[in-house]
Amino acid sequence: QAKRQGHNHVQIYQDSMSLQFKSSAAMRSSLQEAIEKNQLTLHYQPIVRCNDGATIGYEALLRWEREPGKFISPTEFIPLAEMTGQIIPLSEWVFRRACEAAVKLQEHGPCKMAVNLSTLHFNRTEFTPFLEQTLEETGCKPEWLELELTESILMENTDYAVEVLQNLRNKNITISLDDFGTGFSSLSYLKRLPVDKVKIDRSFIAGIRTHRSDRVLIGSVIKIAQSLDFAVVAEGVETPQQAEFVTELGCNYMQGFYFGRPVPLEEL
Ligand code: C2E
Ligand code: MG
Ligand code: MG
Ligand code: MG
Repeated sequence: QAKRQGHNHVQIYQDSMSLQFKSSAAMRSSLQEAIEKNQLTLHYQPIVRCNDGATIGYEALLRWEREPGKFISPTEFIPLAEMTGQIIPLSEWVFRRACEAAVKLQEHGPCKMAVNLSTLHFNRTEFTPFLEQTLEETGCKPEWLELELTESILMENTDYAVEVLQNLRNKNITISLDDFGTGFSSLSYLKRLPVDKVKIDRSFIAGIRTHRSDRVLIGSVIKIAQSLDFAVVAEGVETPQQAEFVTELGCNYMQGFYFGRPVPLEEL
């Protein structure tokens, strides 16, 4: 069943990419080229604290500039890179760059760097040694690094994932659960995760104005998460009204276009 879904997924993906690539093979060699030709960059988006608006960190977001000024969205190429395995060198590149940026940013005051973690990369037994080596080589302290993972990582191999994450947390790396609310988490499941923060998916924030159900849900998620000692981040905050709303509900941190779009390091 999983395999069949996987194939279907490839089909759907090829269709949506067909304007840019004739086949997944073309996409594959093009991605290889992207790595070799330095067409990849990281952009950084601020994450602010609700109670005083201070920027406490940044999320590193991958960009593929296929031609000058023409960016391909990570939501398009990351799923394919996960399937071809190219995500491994890609993700290693991201971590190295993000750690270097984290070191540079410390000159302007303490801050964290959040990096999105690929499921495939995480499931490699070499992930923890890779990360330790990268931190050491770049001079990035573990407490500056935050790993953003999605529920799929935890669903696939729970015992293994819990153990690895607990180990990383013991080294003072922060663990965040990304896109919270879009997956299948139950509360009992959430309780046993070695997670420091949950990031409420931006689809809920977008519905604040129009959907009472989203407003009620956000309030409940914040309360439950905080009662389990997780900090809460609201994703996709685009307006002052949304910022005020989640702040009043006791949310800890916010991220979104209202505070800043993802930009290259030089622009921060
Ligand atoms: P994500 O980790 O949930 O990242 C947040 C996404 O929301 C980013 O999209 C960001 O640009 C966008 N965003 C931030 N604020 C707002 C807002 O106020 N309004 C709206 N409409 N959007 C906002 P982006 O950069 O296109 O990345 C999409 C996804 O691709 C990420 O979702 C993440 O899952 C994945 N991704 C990005 N970079 C990497 C990476 O280096 N490695 C891995 N494995 N995945 C990555
Ligand atoms: Mg993220
Ligand atoms: Mg997210
Ligand atoms: Mg997302």
